[in-house]
Amino acid sequence: MQNMVILGATGSIGSSTLSVIEHNPEQYCVYGLVANASVEKMLQLCLKHKPRVAHMVDSTAAQALKEALPANLNIDVTTGADELESLVTATQVDTVMAAIVGAAGLMSTYAAVKAGKRVLLANKESLVMSGELFMKAARENNATLLPVDSEHNAIFQCLPANIQANLGTCDLTASGISHILLTGSGGPFLTSDIAALSAMTPTQACNHPNWSMGPKISVDSATMMNKGLEFIEARWLFNTNKEQLKVVIHPQSVIHSMVQYKDGSVIAQMGNPDMRTPIAHCMSFPERIYAGVEPLDFFKVRELSFCEPDYQRFPCLALAMKACEQGQEATTVLNAANEIAVDAFLNEKIKFTDIARVNESCLERVSHSALGTIEDIMALDGQARIIANEAIKLIN
Ligand code: NAD
Ligand code: MG
Repeated sequence: MQNMVILGATGSIGSSTLSVIEHNPEQYCVYGLVANASVEKMLQLCLKHKPRVAHMVDSTAAQALKEALPANLNIDVTTGADELESLVTATQVDTVMAAIVGAAGLMSTYAAVKAGKRVLLANKESLVMSGELFMKAARENNATLLPVDSEHNAIFQCLPANIQANLGTCDLTASGISHILLTGSGGPFLTSDIAALSAMTPTQACNHPNWSMGPKISVDSATMMNKGLEFIEARWLFNTNKEQLKVVIHPQSVIHSMVQYKDGSVIAQMGNPDMRTPIAHCMSFPERIYAGVEPLDFFKVRELSFCEPDYQRFPCLALAMKACEQGQEATTVLNAANEIAVDAFLNEKIKFTDIARVNESCLERVSHSALGTIEDIMALDGQARIIANEAIKLIN
């Protein structure tokens, strides 16, 4: 029996994780649920899954949850950063699903890694911000890091066991690997008229053709910043250099990524676009469990197509690839700017095409401070948010 804590329990990945647990009740137990402020959703999850601890980041929400929960359930309701750290590092906890959205997920995910937990990593922003420190902490503390992001999970599945066991420091070339092919659907605006992009609404941007996800990652998919963040995520997980990592557009989202070997072989992982597959894989690795996912029907799929990314259409992808080359400061700044810009777009304060403008202007103003600790990274994240908000004011 694995005791699990789910960070971001009320979100899209949180709910897919709870669905996989429900299919496998003899193997997984919900020890802790963590969310930001949605009391009603958290209440329903508590009634259904009866965790030992329910943590709300928002203290008013924690109070409201406490009042709403029946006392006989004996659920500890907590709030506060120290309490969150105690929850993820508790000795009873085996596995932590890191599925808080954005930079807000970094500290708790990092704490789980430092405590040597089995960490199922959906929060890609953690690696974008702190890849080097994060992978080092995982190594030094014997944490097991398993990639939930569907592409990285696919790549992981296509890699040999010696690489799977040495994420972060692995040598792809020595294992006969020539390229990692990171696939992406291209999102809802892959074929839209480029001139029409500036008028796209949040509803249109969030209407992903294949995946159902939270609002931030949905907008990131429409700008392809998501693929850019994933490019950086892959760089840290699989220790790639610029030449080893290629982005391939594959609109059907059936192939979730591929690994190309020097003998000419290409290994791909396929499946329906349902996050319960990579989640179940991470939960049970190296075993397999039932995930509740429809089997892939090739007769319904019929066609798989591919094309190169168009960086004119997707300037955020180009920005992220450039930041990846520049290093950790640039990726931290870009990530923070992007969170602010996406939030402003979702709140209809800027246009869709302004997201790339805000991101680019912030990247140009990266300060070259040394990033030796997670606290340094959080401080740079804070500075970048101020710069991004200034850039947004200039647009309006
Ligand atoms: P979501 O918006 O659906 O859910 C976000 C969750 O994070 C919620 O439970 C919310 O309460 C919590 N949260 C928000 N702000 C918080 C804060 N300040 N402190 C603590 N908790 C907070 O997001 P999602 O789509 O489930 O994505 C979660 C993460 O997984 C993201 O990093 C995303 O990039 C990654 N991911 C998601 C998918 C997907 O299919 N949804 C796929 C791959 C990776
Ligand atoms: Mg992904």
